[in-house]
Amino acid sequence: MTKKDKKTCIHCGRDNSQVPLFAFRYQGKKFRICTEHLPTLLHKPQDLAGKLPDVENLRGVDD
Ligand SMILES: [Zn+2]
Repeated sequence: MTKKDKKTCIHCGRDNSQVPLFAFRYQGKKFRICTEHLPTLLHKPQDLAGKLPDVENLRGVDD
C-alpha cells in the first residue's frame, strides 16, 4: 500500500484550495472528487475509467 494520499480530484487533479472536494471510499480506498466532477461519477462513471478501479461495474444514475 502506498501512503500517498493525494488530496486531489481523481478527474482533474485540483486540490481543495481550488475546488470543493468530496471524499468517498471505494473498494476500501479513499478517493476525492470535486464538485465539478461529482456529476460525472454519478451519471457517467465510465468516463472515470483508469482513474477508478472497475468503473465498468458501476452503473450511472439515470433518470
Ligand atoms: Zn475535478
